[in-house]
This record gives sequence, structure tokens and C-alpha cells, in this order.
Amino acid sequence: MIVIMNPQATMREKSAVIAWAEDNGCTVHLSEGSERAVIGVIGNGRPLLREQAEMMAGVERVVPVLKPFKIASREFRAEDSSFPLGNHTVGGEELIIMAGPCSVESRSQIIETAHAVKEAGAHVLRGGAFKPRSSPYSFQGLGEEGLQYMAEAREQTGLPFVTEVMEPALVPLICEYADILQIGARNMQNYALLHAVGKSQHPVLLKRGMSSTIEEWLMCAEYVLSHGNTRVMMCERGIRTFETYTRNTFDINAIAVAKHLSHLPVIADPSHATGKWEYVAAASKAAIAAGADGLIIEVHPRPEEAMSDGPQSLKPEKFAKLVQEMKAIALAVGRKIEA
Ligand code: PEP
Ligand code: MN
Repeated sequence: MIVIMNPQATMREKSAVIAWAEDNGCTVHLSEGSERAVIGVIGNGRPLLREQAEMMAGVERVVPVLKPFKIASREFRAEDSSFPLGNHTVGGEELIIMAGPCSVESRSQIIETAHAVKEAGAHVLRGGAFKPRSSPYSFQGLGEEGLQYMAEAREQTGLPFVTEVMEPALVPLICEYADILQIGARNMQNYALLHAVGKSQHPVLLKRGMSSTIEEWLMCAEYVLSHGNTRVMMCERGIRTFETYTRNTFDINAIAVAKHLSHLPVIADPSHATGKWEYVAAASKAAIAAGADGLIIEVHPRPEEAMSDGPQSLKPEKFAKLVQEMKAIALAVGRKIEA
């Protein structure tokens, strides 16, 4: 349940509610809004006496959260969540553009791409160093060497970077280098990994599993949030359907639904959602119109030579043109893409 304190509630009254909830074996998440504090009380299965909370000093009202996800829900936090990424803010008026290759393939490749996407207007660099590949014989990524090259690209361009973490044991290493931890679609329900990234307190980009419902996806965000890590971005990257012409089916509904059910920022991945570079621009523009807070787009200087996901990667010139086109769509829906 959510305990909404009245605007005049004192620190002591808030502390009393927190202590009461903890004495009852609950976990507590305090959210200090601009007007009032909201205390999320997550039960441990035992029934909690709502009436008891309602009678406590400083409490305005108590709202039960009927959804299975609690901290991720709009009931818990009515305003959009926003937090800084480099010199920009995700979850506000600005749209955040993340771009870069699927995989880091060499020092020169990532540095060249980082400069190109920065020049085109990206705010965050993407690149996989530990790759989840469908085949064990495909390129698995450069590992830590890839992280070092990305760190160098960040130094040269000033772009923070996002990269995937595939196992709990690697979370500390990747946190040393990366600004944002990506949880890949194949690992969305890896609960040990979700606990580990939650504990890390590092920003997280949580991709939707390719066969996951929106509720399952939000429940996975709840795992991360339950550790007090509030910097979580949801990422819609397409789901499996009967359609085979495109790699996945871009679930544009999921963007609107996730924004409705949750306060967390939603990022769209038109590259994996379509699997073909020809449709990336259309899907990107649709995502902005649907309310996405940002995009993550695969860009490669020579897609035909890419070691992964070449067919869905944009060349830098095409990406630069797309950023310009997206600016107009952003303005039309009351958002902006800043330099
Ligand atoms: C990726 O971002 O390159 C990737 C592997 O994405 P997903 O987990 O969405 O397939
Ligand atoms: Mn990829």
C-alpha cells in the first residue's frame, strides 16, 4: 500500500510511519515529492492493517496498490521519473538518443562510431562488449578489452555509454566502466542478475523479453527498484509474433501502456524491433509519437562488415538524417532533442 503523508507532515511523523511498517516486517520506500512525501509499504504476505496506518499522525490517506508491481507503478509515483544521463536528463521534456554499434569490434571501430554519432546528435554511446549470441560459434564480444575501448571513446567524445551485462559476477567489472547497465531481452527474467544490478545502484536499461508480457517486464523492473535503485529505464525492443518479414514485431502499444502503468522512462529500440535498417526510421518516429522518452539505435560505419546485427545498423549519414527528422516529430508532441 501507499501511505500518502499530508503536506505539513513532519520528519518525525514520517519516521514513525516507516518504523511502524518495518516493525510489521514490511519494506519501505520513501519518495519525497515536490509537495508531499509518499511512503510505499511493501508487505511480506501478511495482511497489514490499513486502518492502523490511516490513524497515524501526518497521514493523509492510504491507497492499496492492487497491481503486482508496486514501486514501478503510477500509484506509487504519479509524476514521471527522471534522472541525469551525462549532461542530459531522461524522463523529462528531452528525448535521449543512444546510438552505436551492436558490438564493439575494435578500438578504431568504436572510436570512429562514437565521434560519428556524437556529431549526428546522440547523447549516449551504445556498444556490446559481452554479447548474448544465439549461436555459441558467433562472435561473443571483446569482453573487458571492449569496455576499455568504450571508456576511451567516452573520454574523447564526452558521451556516457551503455553496455550489456549478462551475469551477476560481471556486474562489478561493468560498473567500473559503464554509465548504464543494459539487461538484454534474453536475460530479462534472470532474477539473480536483476538483484545484482539493483544492488549496484547503477542506472539500468531493462529490455523487454522477446516473449514477455508488459506485466512481466514491469515485474522485472520491480526487482531492480526493490533494492532502492530508482534509475531504471524500460526498453521496448520488439516481440516475437507469427510475422517473419521483420526480425521482431515492434509493440508500439507497449510504449503507451508502460507510460500509463508506470512512471519509469521508456526507451524504444527500433533496430532490434525491425531487424532491417530500412524500417528503423519509421519505427523511430512512431516511437516518439507514442510517447517514448528516448531511442537506442544501432549505427555502424560499415554495416556490411559488422560482426553482429549489420542488416539492422544505420550508416552514420543515415543516422544523422534521422536525428534531424526526429527533431520535428519531437516538437510536434511537445518534446525536444537537444544538442
Ligand atoms: C543488443 O542490444 O545488441 C541486444 C542483444 O539486444 P536484445 O537483448 O534486445 O536482443
Ligand atoms: Mn544488436
